Amino acid sequence: MTARHASPLQSLLVDNQFDGDVYANEPLSRHTTYRIGGPARFYVRVGSISALSKLVEVCNEHGIDWLILGRGSNLLVSDQGFSGVAISLGRDFRSYKVDEEQNRFLTGAGVALSAIVQEAFRRNYAGLEFAVGTPGTIGGALRMNAGSRNEWIGSRVLSVTTFSPREGLRRRAGSDIQWGYRCSSFAPDEIVLECELSVEQADPFYIRGKMEANLARRKQTQPLNEPSCGSVFKNPEGDLSAGALIERCGLKGTRIGGAEISTVHGNFIINTGDALASEVRQLIELIQTKVKEQYGIELTPEVQFIGFDA
Ligand SMILES: Cc1cc2nc3c(=O)[nH]c(=O)nc-3n(C[C@H](O)[C@H](O)[C@H](O)COP(=O)(O)OP(=O)(O)OC[C@H]3O[C@@H](n4cnc5c(N)ncnc54)[C@H](O)[C@@H]3O)c2cc1C
Repeated sequence: MTARHASPLQSLLVDNQFDGDVYANEPLSRHTTYRIGGPARFYVRVGSISALSKLVEVCNEHGIDWLILGRGSNLLVSDQGFSGVAISLGRDFRSYKVDEEQNRFLTGAGVALSAIVQEAFRRNYAGLEFAVGTPGTIGGALRMNAGSRNEWIGSRVLSVTTFSPREGLRRRAGSDIQWGYRCSSFAPDEIVLECELSVEQADPFYIRGKMEANLARRKQTQPLNEPSCGSVFKNPEGDLSAGALIERCGLKGTRIGGAEISTVHGNFIINTGDALASEVRQLIELIQTKVKEQYGIELTPEVQFIGFDA
């Protein structure tokens, strides 16, 4: 390919000045906890805000889809992959600082949530025990408002800095964002860059006790040794969880190809080794049909679909 024939996107990505690592036709199965997903036209790990904003600007100008990929722990990517640019937040987004005077973390969006949870534990800070064992990045956690049944990350956010092509850089108080059950009010094209999280000093035995109890519950009730996206569906209103509804429909253990509704937890669909996204998707639709038939309840997926037509 000569520079004369390169598209503006290709020209940007091969430019020596571009601060990022670029992989063409990168299988997204390498970047999702499901280990499922066809290739992205480009997978780009950007090192700085200027590289991120330039990349997004070029994509928008030329009608190329883009998405921000965290750890891919809440995604089902289609077998055909993603025809746009999958962007991962690299170097400048992967560090954090602890403000001991103010009891807060300032953390980049590309930092693993687990790193912050462990650092808080090391420093006897309470407030994040609910997140122990939740994979993913800080950016993905804020977008999804990750949490347990009773606690979520949004309640810990003091401030958040985002970038969007329309509004540029914005810093807002955490209280200016609406945090819902596995959702937040960030605009669809708004990228979380960093945030401040509040914590408080506490007895280390109290913190350890809560973390160990949460981990033990997970190990007992979730198929943690198999690739998955965590809970596939949000819990509906009412007394019965999505997992209980799926179990009562007798669907645990149902298999299509390499995808299986976990025998351990009905709300997990696992990849037994060679599952296709289409097989996971078929199980999702089967569950929705059966639960609707038997209970009149429409289960809403928590997992995000990438690269599917609808
Ligand atoms: C074994 C297992 C257990 C889990 N347990 C829990 C749990 O207890 N509680 C819970 O809430 N979730 C849980 N999850 C789901 C998942 O880990 C969370 O939703 C997590 O917060 C997703 O983070 P991520 O970085 O992997 O995001 P991804 O899956 O990569 O992306 C999710 C969404 O966030 C967007 N996004 C990612 N980064 C940014 C950013 N910087 N700015 C804007 N948008 C962004 C993506 O575009 C996408 O729309 C679990 C998953 C697994 C596999």
